[in-house]
Amino acid sequence: MDAEVREKIHLEILKRTGAYHANDHILLPSGQHTSEFIEKTLVTTEASFTEGLGAVIAKHFAQWPIDVVLSTGPGALILSHCVARAHPSRPTLMYGTKGVSAGKRKVTLPAEFHRLIRPATKVLIVEDLVSSGTTVKLLSDLVEELGGQVIGIGALWRRTKKSEVAGKEIFSLVSRDFPTYPPDQCPMCKKGVALNQEFVKRREHRRPSSARERN
Ligand SMILES: [Zn+2]
Repeated sequence: MDAEVREKIHLEILKRTGAYHANDHILLPSGQHTSEFIEKTLVTTEASFTEGLGAVIAKHFAQWPIDVVLSTGPGALILSHCVARAHPSRPTLMYGTKGVSAGKRKVTLPAEFHRLIRPATKVLIVEDLVSSGTTVKLLSDLVEELGGQVIGIGALWRRTKKSEVAGKEIFSLVSRDFPTYPPDQCPMCKKGVALNQEFVKRREHRRPSSARERN
């Protein structure tokens, strides 16, 4: 099966979770418009799908021995469990916690995990969505500070054009970014397609800040 067909299958699977929307005219929290959208929190809601997709990532990395699977964030952790379960090395699963320090995003590894990453420990980083790659870079820095070695990066979805972070290739099941437009340059607006404000409304309902989360 070629990569393009495989990617289409994975995209269909994600569509069935309700996470992926296409052929729409969507208002984003940033004020930009787009025709496609992925709702991060819905990506891992179907356990059997997540297991299947996790197994595909594990299979890609099966040729390398892995000691630790590392992730951060609830969705990524669910996926990383599935990857760790399916990898032949039977790696340990651990996670970092996200936070902000002095206005900068950071990821911290709980102290109990520190002794599990030693010099030459082989680590696979797993993410659900990779957008800017910042989270992956922070995880990679953590591993290197402890002397570990990042073997690779596995993800469900890569939204960035960058195919590698911290010198490591990102293996993603779907590699797709979608263009966003300011309203005055939006082709859907020009065609008079009704604007879907559902996602912005839902966010405003949930919390006052409409700050955009980027991974
Ligand atoms: Zn528009």
